[in-house]
Formats: sequence, C-alpha cells, structure tokens
Amino acid sequence: MQYHSTRGESPAASFSQALLAGLAPDGGLYIPAGWPRFEPADFPPGATLAQVARQLIAPFAAGDILAPAMAEITADACNFPAPLVAVDGAGYSVLELFHGPTAAFKDFGARFLAASLTRLRATAAKPLEILVATSGDTGGAVAAAFHRRPGIRVAVLYPRGLVSPAQEQQLTCWGDNVRSFAVRGSFDDCQRLVKAAFMDPALRATRDLSSANSINLGRLLPQAAYHAATALAVWRREGRPASFVIPSGNLGNALACVWARHVGLPIGEIVLAHNANRTVPDFLSGLPWQPRRSIATLASAMDVGDPSNMERLRALYPGLPALQSAVTAEVVDDAAIRERIAADYAAYGRIWCPHTAIAAEVMARMPEARRRSAAWVIAATAHPAKFREIVEPLIGRAVPTPDSLARLYELPVAKEDLAPQLEALRGALLGAIPAARVQP
Ligand SMILES: *Cc1c(COP(=O)(O)O)cnc(C)c1O
Repeated sequence: MQYHSTRGESPAASFSQALLAGLAPDGGLYIPAGWPRFEPADFPPGATLAQVARQLIAPFAAGDILAPAMAEITADACNFPAPLVAVDGAGYSVLELFHGPTAAFKDFGARFLAASLTRLRATAAKPLEILVATSGDTGGAVAAAFHRRPGIRVAVLYPRGLVSPAQEQQLTCWGDNVRSFAVRGSFDDCQRLVKAAFMDPALRATRDLSSANSINLGRLLPQAAYHAATALAVWRREGRPASFVIPSGNLGNALACVWARHVGLPIGEIVLAHNANRTVPDFLSGLPWQPRRSIATLASAMDVGDPSNMERLRALYPGLPALQSAVTAEVVDDAAIRERIAADYAAYGRIWCPHTAIAAEVMARMPEARRRSAAWVIAATAHPAKFREIVEPLIGRAVPTPDSLARLYELPVAKEDLAPQLEALRGALLGAIPAARVQP
C-alpha cells in the first residue's frame, strides 16, 4: 500500500516512510492510495481485539518492510482490553478505551507507533529522539509507549505549573530513555521549542528527530481496529450496525471510526461530540471553514481550534453535502458537562471523565426514536480518575484509582527545569550524550 499527501504535492510514501515522517513534506497528512474491502464474515467469530487489528491493518502495511512483523506489532499495541459495557437503563453501551498504561485511548496509537518505530530503527546509525510538546495527555501516552524501547529517546516538554498534579506525575515518572522538561512558559512555548529543535543543525547532526504526534498514520490504524472489533461484536449479537458518539478534538479517534466504516465494517452513524471549541460543528452547519484559537474547557484534551485531521476527513468526503451525510456534530458546554457527570452517576452509577460526559450528554439529548433506531455506543476516552479534581465534587465521592495509574503514582519522578529558548533545549539534549557519541 502506498500513501499520498492530502495536499497532493508530495511523492508517494510507503507505510513505514509515512510512519517515520509523520507529516508529509508538503505539510499535508498521509492517506492510503486505495482502500481494502472487508465483510463482517471475513473476521472469525470470537476474534480478539489484537486479531481484528492484525487482520484489519494487514492490507494497509502490505508490501512494507514492517509487514512480516505486523502480528507482533498489533499484539503489542493491543495488549490491554477495550470492553464494550452496557449502561443499564440508558439504552446505549460504552466502549471503555481507558484500560491502558496511562488510562486514555491514546495508549493504543502510541504503543502501535512505538512498536513500529523500534523495529524500523533497529539498524539506524543515529538514535531517534522523539520530541513531544504536551499540555497533558499525549505526552504521558507517548512516554509510556516508548519507555525502554532500544534506539529511541523521548524528550517531553510541558508548561511548568500548568498541568494537573496527576498529569505531571505521568509526564515525569519514567526515567531511562525518557526525559521530562518543565518549561518556564506556556504550551505554545513548548510547541515553538519543538519546532525550532526540528530545524536546528546542531541537533540534527547527532540524532534523527520525530514527533510521534497525533496526525501520524500509526496512531490512527489501531484506533480503527477497536471500532471494528466493537462493530463486529454488536453485529454478531444484534444483527445491526453500531452507531458511535465520539468525544472529539483533533478528530483522530473519530476519523479512525470513519475509516473502519469506509472499509466495510458494520458501522452506522458517527456523531462528533465537541466541547465549546465549535470549529467543526460550525462548518458542518454550513458556515465557512474557520480555524480559531482554542478555548479552555473542562474537557481539556479536546481544546482544539484547528483540528488537523479535518484534512483527512475532507479528502475522503469532498464537498459539504458528502461530509454532512458521513458525520454529524454536536456541541456541549462546561455547564452541561458538569450536570451530565452528576446526573449519570445518580441515574446509572457510572462515573464519566469530562470528555466522555460530552458523549453521554449527546445521548441524553437524542430523541427517543433516533436512539432506538440503532445500537448506540459512546467512546469513553479517559478514566475519570485522571480528572478527579473536576469529577469528585460533582458526584460527592472519591473516584477509585485504576491499577495502571496507581502503579505510576508510586514511581519516583524526575524533571528538569528549562528556559523557553532553543539554546537551553539544545544544551540539555546535547549535554546528556557522552562526548564519544556526539562525533558525527
Ligand atoms: C485526545 C483526547 C480526545 C480527543 O481525541 P481526538 O482524536 O484528538 O479527537 C478526547 N478525550 C481524551 C481523554 C483525549 O485524551
């Protein structure tokens, strides 16, 4: 399988080239040159998530140097479950995507990418340095996924004092090949530093740089796999397609669901559930495409004003009418998030994170007839314990900590203070390498 850029100005790339590059040279995003076609009957009954992932992803990696390792890579990425749990009395189910090492769905994509890049870099002359600017969730998932992978180092940059205590713990508890920098500045400063580092000749002479960011093709494919496995389970049980409500920011999770439907999985409607950042809902309602600055909300991992994966969605559905028939979008504000967390705990005993609460609110607002017309599934994108400061006052009790997070909370932390200048980052990264290894 070959990959093209959404902007059409880059040479075609192989699967592994697309994974290594992240972004295409013309600034576009990689999309497959063709689409495989599946029927539900192609997947054996009772297939595990890892088996579905292997079968679904195989044609996307066909002919690539990674193809022979794809069974191992998918098993590594999907080594924790994504259970579908009925919400009794609510008339829908919840797909729990938070059972991985950092308790959010990003663990699947980060682990797939880590397993792939480790193999691609096994014979490389220079180390691979992954630079991640993070405002919270992504950095932890990437650090966890790449921790102790040979030939790869990770530098996590986060704004000092601007992430929650639980998030900071997840960003700083790794050690070994992962370094954590508390930058004296904002998230934008962190992002600016990472971009400057990519252009810096002194850094590029000693290492290859990568970003592992959320537009990477390798983050999307395992996400398509859990949507596929869920749709197959619903299809076998109820003989009808599953419809999804997906809490969305950069649209990576929702796009993966769209791709799964596009290759033939039994998926009905796909609803993009947004917080007050309404760039996508406004566009789908017929307004011009208008990226904007993000607004801070309770569902902070979805505070995106210029969702990059929209480019992939529009490549698949050119023209507004096609897009409008492919997906719909809803907006849920902070007040409704708070009310939904309290109400659903009282009604169903379920505790939502603020992101998941947005999808639950979309279901609560849905007219009865539409709700009955499909087997509805909401995606639970993070465990509520990651957002206990928000959730606990609303439900009046403590949120139990899952084992995965409890283990992280016990690890010692180490972070390095960093001035928001390229010279400081360069000094820190180069200084850590023994002189002998700096020689080109
Ligand atoms: C990243 C994230 C989202 C948004 O996912 P996208 O793929 O960017 O749309 C939603 N919820 C949580 C908890 C996240 O970490």
